Amino acid sequence: MILIVDDAPENIISLKKVLEKNGFEVDTATSGEEALKKILNRSYVLIILDVQMPGMDGFEVAETISGFSRAKETAIIFLSAASANVNLITRGYSSGGLDYISKPVDMNILLLKVKTFYRIYEQSRALNEMQKALRAEIEFRKEAERKKDEFISIASHELKTPMTSIKGYIQLLERSIKKQDHDTSLQRLEKVQNQIEKLNLLIADLLDISKIESGKLKFHIQSFNFATMLENLLEVMQQSNNQVKIRYIPGFTKEVEGDEMRLEQVIVNFISNAIKYAPDATELIVRTEDQGDVLRFSVQDFGIGMSHEHTQRIFDKFYRIEETSERFQGLGIGLYICQEIIERHGGKIGVVSTLGEGSTFFFTIPIHSQEN
Ligand code: ADP
Repeated sequence: MILIVDDAPENIISLKKVLEKNGFEVDTATSGEEALKKILNRSYVLIILDVQMPGMDGFEVAETISGFSRAKETAIIFLSAASANVNLITRGYSSGGLDYISKPVDMNILLLKVKTFYRIYEQSRALNEMQKALRAEIEFRKEAERKKDEFISIASHELKTPMTSIKGYIQLLERSIKKQDHDTSLQRLEKVQNQIEKLNLLIADLLDISKIESGKLKFHIQSFNFATMLENLLEVMQQSNNQVKIRYIPGFTKEVEGDEMRLEQVIVNFISNAIKYAPDATELIVRTEDQGDVLRFSVQDFGIGMSHEHTQRIFDKFYRIEETSERFQGLGIGLYICQEIIERHGGKIGVVSTLGEGSTFFFTIPIHSQEN
């Protein structure tokens, strides 16, 4: 859009006509004051500015708008100015460009200048946009790099913790074997096994992540009895977590077509989190519901819960709730893997949670396989 500023309406009319005929959008003002008001409210590519006007003259207008951020990219063509005067005001004026045309205006020259300014304007806008996109891309790299570094450091720490325990227990084990203390040896052996199982799970998660990234997470879909799988699993989990009571409310008895091991992995993840993030709780509730062709599974805990803003993001890769990340160890990839598994079954995963009261993690899956 071009703004023509001239106190003589007849000049405005003829300029406007020519410019509009050449496809430019035109706005007008008949005084410097009116022009300033308009410039404050919208951005113009170019202002054609009469120098001699009663009240505020063209140079004063130009000087004033040099301070407007809206007019940073705006070019100005003065009408009837001597070049010396133009040079004077270019100092301290960082606009898109300044030029002048003597009166009476030669329309061909004016059009040529207008077109040149427009071309420069378009080019600089394209350049700006390109620069913006490049900057955003660089930031995004940087961000990915930072996340990766952070992940490597957390992952190494997480792997090191069970490793250190294993070393310690093996030393103790050696001592008790030398003393031929059979019972203590067996206890320590069991501790080593627990830690190895932890390591195993961590490494399995890391492998799953890289399989998801490369699209190589494979599923073996079969028909199986969900309730039987769940009951066996709950028995094992109850045994190894006897500080909490796992209450089971069954409501689903049908066969399900799906990858039994992968669904088991999701359930283990939900329950382990329900135990981990509810350190003071004495029970948690596991429910299954029959919703026709859909199975709904949920785990309700009475732990720390979370505020609403986190409920979507915790399924993102590497996302951990910052406020509690120091207190609870973890890699922030378990739920991401669960989400992938459930979505690949054509199902949905989610959480309903209240900060300080607890969370219910759930998934629903169609009982007939959606994998193809
Ligand atoms: P991890 O527990 O290893 O950090 P997850 O992917 O399993 O990774 O969970 C991601 C984040 O979601 C956790 O870091 C935690 O902040 C939050 N979270 C998961 N489960 C619960 C829960 N039952 N209660 C409260 N917060 C949870």
